[in-house]
Amino acid sequence: MSDTLTIALSKGRIFQETLPLLAHAGIEPLDDPDTSRKLILDTNLSDVKLVIIRASDVPTYVQYGATEVGVAGKDVLMEHGGEGLYEPLDLEIAKCRLMVAGPSQSAVNGRRMRIATKYVNCTRRYFAEQGRQVEIIKLYGSMELAPLVGLADRIVDVVDTGNTLKANGLAPLHHIADISSRLIVNKAAMKMKSARIKAFIRDMQAAVIGRRQ
Ligand code: AMP
Repeated sequence: MSDTLTIALSKGRIFQETLPLLAHAGIEPLDDPDTSRKLILDTNLSDVKLVIIRASDVPTYVQYGATEVGVAGKDVLMEHGGEGLYEPLDLEIAKCRLMVAGPSQSAVNGRRMRIATKYVNCTRRYFAEQGRQVEIIKLYGSMELAPLVGLADRIVDVVDTGNTLKANGLAPLHHIADISSRLIVNKAAMKMKSARIKAFIRDMQAAVIGRRQ
């Protein structure tokens, strides 16, 4: 196996915030995923490529070794379960919180609470730990709408400023987890390409520490 390195990333906030860290590790993409339609981006290093995919697919590509490493939010990793992956580094970017939210003045009495979310596994685990039986409704986006139209009593979603909740008459109610993006590595690749990947992790770690100052 050659020591090429393929890094899975999602467009938008994670890509933009990972760029300076990659630059610190000497990696600069030759295309911008926001303007290019390419899914595999070359970089200034001939043996390093970036693969641009949906955030929730990043752990799957890394789990199966289609890419050796990736950058994924802790929310996505908690939902995926982390099978086949190492999570060696907190990149301290794209920070937010996974929260239960709902209308601020509402109580749910005498029946099972209905929760709308795309984080079905995280939500099931959280309420099971609380000893509460809830009904979970899987959605793929715009969770904030669900309580407004009577689809659900509560939502579980990531919250940054809280402005989206507020604009829809909702409030954060319970904190589930602090979220940030993590560097993830395929377990087999960590053995097969140990020197290359460990050097990359060290460079990224130095970039994270440099960013704190
Ligand atoms: P905010 O209004 O700042 O609380 O942002 C809320 C919306 O942005 C939510 O509906 C989220 O889906 C999305 N969001 C905020 N921060 C993140 C993040 N770090 N990762 C993914 N989505 C986020």
